[in-house]
Amino acid sequence: MTKSIVTVIGAGLAGSEAAWQLARRGIPVRLVEMRPGATTEAHRTAFFAELVCSNSLRNASLETAVGVLKEELRRLGSLILAAADRTRVPAGAALAVDRDDFARTVTAALERHPLVEVVREEARTIPEGPAIIASGPLTSAALGAGLNRLIGARNLYFYDAIAPIVTAESVDMTIAFRASRWGNGGDDYINCPLDEARYHAFIEAVTAAEKVAVHPFEKPVYFEGCMPIEEMARRGPMTLAFGPMKPVGLIDPRDGRRPFAVVQLRQDDREARLYNIVGFQTKMTYPEQRRVLRMIPGLERAEFVRLGSLHRNTFIDSPRLLRPTLQLRGRDDLFMAGQMIGVEGYVESAAAGMLAAINLARLCDGAEPTAPPRESALGSLVAYITDPARRDFQPMNANFGLMPELAGRMRGRAKKTALGERALAACDDWIARERIEPDGADAARVAFA
Ligand SMILES: Cc1cc2nc3c(=O)[nH]c(=O)nc-3n(C[C@H](O)[C@H](O)[C@H](O)COP(=O)(O)OP(=O)(O)OC[C@H]3O[C@@H](n4cnc5c(N)ncnc54)[C@H](O)[C@@H]3O)c2cc1C
Repeated sequence: MTKSIVTVIGAGLAGSEAAWQLARRGIPVRLVEMRPGATTEAHRTAFFAELVCSNSLRNASLETAVGVLKEELRRLGSLILAAADRTRVPAGAALAVDRDDFARTVTAALERHPLVEVVREEARTIPEGPAIIASGPLTSAALGAGLNRLIGARNLYFYDAIAPIVTAESVDMTIAFRASRWGNGGDDYINCPLDEARYHAFIEAVTAAEKVAVHPFEKPVYFEGCMPIEEMARRGPMTLAFGPMKPVGLIDPRDGRRPFAVVQLRQDDREARLYNIVGFQTKMTYPEQRRVLRMIPGLERAEFVRLGSLHRNTFIDSPRLLRPTLQLRGRDDLFMAGQMIGVEGYVESAAAGMLAAINLARLCDGAEPTAPPRESALGSLVAYITDPARRDFQPMNANFGLMPELAGRMRGRAKKTALGERALAACDDWIARERIEPDGADAARVAFA
């Protein structure tokens, strides 16, 4: 492919990173951002990379997967991480930023770059030529309609309904048991049994727990199959027992009887290390989810790798549509990035923008696109969201549970440290082997010179 101008739609976390990565590799970019002329329900400013909610890019420690992902981004020359490090404010173990300073820094770096043409208008159609679409969870209606036509309505979602995920090793299997309802499907599910008293205590706790406030634009209209558990509990104390917690077709092997209610866990990854709590999407706050869900017998010591949520969110069925290079299947020069591919969070979105740009730049240079190694934080996240075997896809954040298991048995901090070290080594190896860092490219820090 010749070095024609590349279009990037959306100058959020993903689009800003993508535009910067293309430009620093010598690729001219047309960065199309609709704000301030048109805006989303959450953005307030005209800055690129506006943080619409928290000012935190989450944990900075290398004992967390998102900390490792940030470090990988630094090694890949990320603009978003360089701006965050530069505008950091004290926040304990987290990397938090002065949000205006941060967004202003990213905006200035891009506006100043001679290869970036900023176009302040709403993109209403999918570009014909090489492009990255990074219009985010609140993609404008016209562009959403364009996407719909390209990928088909059944591959585009407008809400996420995320159920929590726990690690298999943290489930107490002396209490929980493996079985499928009526024996259909062998031992596929892990079942956590509740007696009547435990069930009612759980319902009371769910009802009383603190919930995340609903944004005005997220009118609580719930669809069948994605109603939060607290809404079900609110409709009546037995609604959950007749819904996702119904015990029919299940016998607890410890007493040979049907439990009063069950919570079912379904395998979520190929290696069977992660299990999602079936039908348990919720808007309880994160601390409340940890407290209330640990009341479930067998989950007292559960390790949560993802917590539940329910949002207005435009995202695509990436397992069916995307390659691990973030190219759309069937259209090599069209890449998707950011929250709309089903990654969850500011850092994950920027990371997706990074990968899409690395690969589109390679394509422009006549090189093969590349997928990051499975052991890295970026590679494990991308492998998860593009795994064609995945059904009922819901967005995912970076977590250690996505990375391949370590040889030998390790637990706790030692395991996290070892996974992090392996991830960074794999990332370094990828950068060197695939010559990811272009010769003579600007380092991100040059952006602020
Ligand atoms: C209300 C809300 C709160 C959130 N809170 C957090 C949080 O606290 N922490 C966290 O980690 N994540 C949070 N997220 C998730 C967050 O959106 C993503 O993490 C991140 O902003 C996504 O990055 P992105 O680049 O994909 O999208 P965005 O950052 O939203 O960027 C997309 C850009 O595309 C532009 N755009 C949209 N349509 C068009 C169009 N047709 N033409 C041109 N431009 C267009 C938008 O104006 C925007 O600038 C939140 C999401 C929402 C909706």
